[in-house]
Amino acid sequence: MAQHIDGKLVSKKILENLSDEILFLDKKPCLAVIIVGEDPASQIYVNLKKKKAFELGIKSIVEPMPADTSQQELFNKIEQLNNDSSVNAILVQLPLPEHIDTKAVLEKINPIKDVDCFHPYNVGRIATGTKPYVYPCTPKGIIRLLEYYNINIEGKHAVVIGRSNIVGRPVAQMLLNENATVTICHSKTKNLADITKTADIIISAVGQKNLLKADMIKEGAVVVDVGMNRTEEGKLCGDVDFYNVEQKASFITPVPGGVGPMTICSLMQNTFDLYKIQNKY
Ligand code: NAD
Repeated sequence: MAQHIDGKLVSKKILENLSDEILFLDKKPCLAVIIVGEDPASQIYVNLKKKKAFELGIKSIVEPMPADTSQQELFNKIEQLNNDSSVNAILVQLPLPEHIDTKAVLEKINPIKDVDCFHPYNVGRIATGTKPYVYPCTPKGIIRLLEYYNINIEGKHAVVIGRSNIVGRPVAQMLLNENATVTICHSKTKNLADITKTADIIISAVGQKNLLKADMIKEGAVVVDVGMNRTEEGKLCGDVDFYNVEQKASFITPVPGGVGPMTICSLMQNTFDLYKIQNKY
């Protein structure tokens, strides 16, 4: 039976330390969040970030912009925040409306304020095995969970399911930098089970409930479930058939309470880390 990896516990410990460090600062770290349009899920995420920042003594500025904001207007807003020395971290809430070129927008953020690690400068640093200013939030949270539970990465076969810029690709690069042998699977991968069965560590970041079943893993595998889906009853669940997989795995992250709390925790830590870099702290 697998040991549960408790993201709530680990994130609580990290945030307690962070809050202690921030308490003694005269000038507080500042996170600016730009939200374009009124997507209800995005509004919820932004409010959660604002609330968490407030609890920790991090200043947060929310910059709401209407859904018909032009790309140039958004560039101008980013430029203004880039030039504002009181702002340490900039986050553009995704997804953006369709008429806006997301990649171009993310490239406008000054890499030293790129709290999500989406700028090609920071992404490229990870890809070349060099430190970015800060690591992307969800992948950073995943690596911290593995470290906390003393799960060795070096020499292990890590299979990442999903190749998004936000989770799959960066976490694969980060596992490679930790000397894992990494395989990336995606929607066009053939015979997924043949690959996952050879994995020591599986990271599933797809968004499809019951994608990973017990007969797709080997005995004792470590299973990290990034997926966020809803059951028919409306309950939050991951990509993994949790009940059956936990009988066979050695470690497993539950949903909720696994990777989720680590993501917002990394965002707060990243804001503070950028503050420290900018203030040569
Ligand atoms: P995405 O939607 O951008 O991409 C999904 C990926 O899954 C794609 O790369 C695709 O190729 C792959 N995929 C689709 N069907 C597949 C299949 N049958 N077999 C193998 N691969 C397949 O993904 P994302 O933004 O990385 O999000 C993935 C999931 O993780 C979502 O449920 C999202 O809500 C969740 N998520 C959770 C957190 C968190 O903090 N817990 C953070 C980010 C994303």
